[in-house]
Amino acid sequence: MQRPERERAESAARQEAARLTALGVRAVALTWVDNAGITRVKTVPTARLAHAVRWGIGMSPVFDVYLTDDSSVTSPHIGGPDGDLRLVPDLGRLTVLAGQPGWAWAPVDRFEQDGRPYAACQRGFVGRMAARAAERGLRLRMGFETEWVVATRGGPGPDGTRPPGAGPAYGMARVVELSDYLRDVLDALTDQRVEVLQLHPEYTPGQFEVSVAAAGPVGAADLAVLVRETVRAVSAAHGLDALFGPVVAPDTVGNGAHLHLSLWRGERNLCRGGDGPCGMTAECAAFLAGVLRELPALLALGAPSPASHLRLRPSRWAGAYGCWGPENREAALRFVPGPPDAEDQANAEVKCFDGAANPYLVTGAVIAAGLAGIDTGAVLPPPVAGDPARGGGHERLPDSPAAALDRFTRSAVLREALGDPLFEAVAAVRRGEIARYEGATARELVDATKGRY
Ligand code: GLU
Ligand code: MG
Repeated sequence: MQRPERERAESAARQEAARLTALGVRAVALTWVDNAGITRVKTVPTARLAHAVRWGIGMSPVFDVYLTDDSSVTSPHIGGPDGDLRLVPDLGRLTVLAGQPGWAWAPVDRFEQDGRPYAACQRGFVGRMAARAAERGLRLRMGFETEWVVATRGGPGPDGTRPPGAGPAYGMARVVELSDYLRDVLDALTDQRVEVLQLHPEYTPGQFEVSVAAAGPVGAADLAVLVRETVRAVSAAHGLDALFGPVVAPDTVGNGAHLHLSLWRGERNLCRGGDGPCGMTAECAAFLAGVLRELPALLALGAPSPASHLRLRPSRWAGAYGCWGPENREAALRFVPGPPDAEDQANAEVKCFDGAANPYLVTGAVIAAGLAGIDTGAVLPPPVAGDPARGGGHERLPDSPAAALDRFTRSAVLREALGDPLFEAVAAVRRGEIARYEGATARELVDATKGRY
């Protein structure tokens, strides 16, 4: 931000701080998400909000090469104790937190000390990709599903203790058992003006899912953070841990963080009303073909943890195959045609992404891949019906973190879009986590990751 803009923002922040103070808000949590998928934070007393907006808050760039276990690595551009960045809250997203009385939240953009945008800022990356789409007259609507598993606070009880929400998959019994909790999750989100579409029990014992209305790419990533932290806070108030890691027990269905997207030109949803496959327009088909083509490399962003590969298994609705199909929940790319008379409902769902993903990296990279598809006239292969694991020679997505990293490091599309500092930092974190968990059993890997995100 330039100086005059900052000064204007500072005076707006003073007014916001006064409003927050009148509401009893004492502190504002300012978050960003690192390349390991962890939401990191600095907080300021409400009275310091305007100062933070004007000058930013100091934070080391080293967090861009932090691993899930809080150890760090180095990359060609980032690492070590030197340097400082300024975290600048986005006042447009300032939200009074219903699940944390006395607190508000805002995501930050990260800047160099001289005010230039920081090249490896993940939120800045999504903004750049959204602008790239806008240059072509296109815009994206996006939304993440949030899946999590509740566990008794502090870990499992003594042998024989029934874990909370252990009723059947999608079972009403779970909603009844955790009725107050789920109502409080809904209430908190609604109080924060988050439009909830659905909330339901998922497959694994104690697992739930909430989906929220689509937003622009940056907004969708911000919402993913806000929804998760709200669920975490409400869970804590109910004496529960909310586990967002890719898997919470070996050999079980894990937590996805599926990304829904639709491509628009003006008020026209390009996912429908065309003469391409399933009624999509040619532009939408090329966009999705670009995403599909890049999926093996995108896995390093969307299913980034070694634990992600314990989740991304065939026949678990996780999308382990690099194919697409209408309403196919085993395809990594599920196309959702929606009712013929509903303009806004047709969309595509990227299913192979999980709760370890940084939502900013994911939204930005998917846009980059889709636009590359349009630019190169990529063609969608025939759709796949049924479970691709049951034969037909469909392409399995990389089935190890090393294989996904290899595809990522060879992706010219993602390297160009992310820019070297961010691209290399992501690659360094992936290499670091692969080395960190080499030889770990599934149980060790699950235990090291399930409660970290
Ligand atoms: N929990 C499944 C996953 O790992 C997804 C189930 C579904 O919502 O389709 O992604
Ligand atoms: Mg689900």
